[in-house]
Amino acid sequence: MPATLVLDDQDETKPAPGQLRRVQALINTLDRETNDDRLADPEGARTVLVKLGLLGPDAPLDGSDLDAVTGVREALHALVVHNAGGPEPDARALRPIRDLGDHALLRVRVDASGAVAAVPVDDSVPARLAGLLTVVSEAQRAGTWALLKACANDECLWAFYDRSRNHGGTWCDMSECGNKLKNRQFRARRRSTR
Ligand SMILES: [Zn+2]
Repeated sequence: MPATLVLDDQDETKPAPGQLRRVQALINTLDRETNDDRLADPEGARTVLVKLGLLGPDAPLDGSDLDAVTGVREALHALVVHNAGGPEPDARALRPIRDLGDHALLRVRVDASGAVAAVPVDDSVPARLAGLLTVVSEAQRAGTWALLKACANDECLWAFYDRSRNHGGTWCDMSECGNKLKNRQFRARRRSTR
């Protein structure tokens, strides 16, 4: 786990807890409403990936690493769409993370107290991505994974953490998306009754 993780939590109105925040942040490097992609230009991508612990501070970033990151990002996004009640991701959508699983990118570490953890084998981007998947695995066991969801507004699809008491939250931000959508449905209803 990167000790230097620094994320701007003011960027998220509904941030996920602990390390799951890194998964959310990776998914949300693409604003699916405006198509604004924080990984589109290599210099900007470097800064973001170092912040997310997916790239060493002095490591080079090559095109294949960036492709791996964006592939994993889209696969994780497909999974949080499913968490929100959307369809199960198809095999193609999951391939980037399953491909990671086919390589020996993690090893088992046992510390002095006997705590066992799967850790990246090295500092490479694929190994760090595999390390991020262990965060997903831990969240799946802890029950927090199912609460990382994609916004129900299909033009938005922003990943948010559902802290509502009944776990039935559907919007990244009710004032932004919930109301926008309600207005649209209202207009559509009005049109259909004319
Ligand atoms: Zn939204």
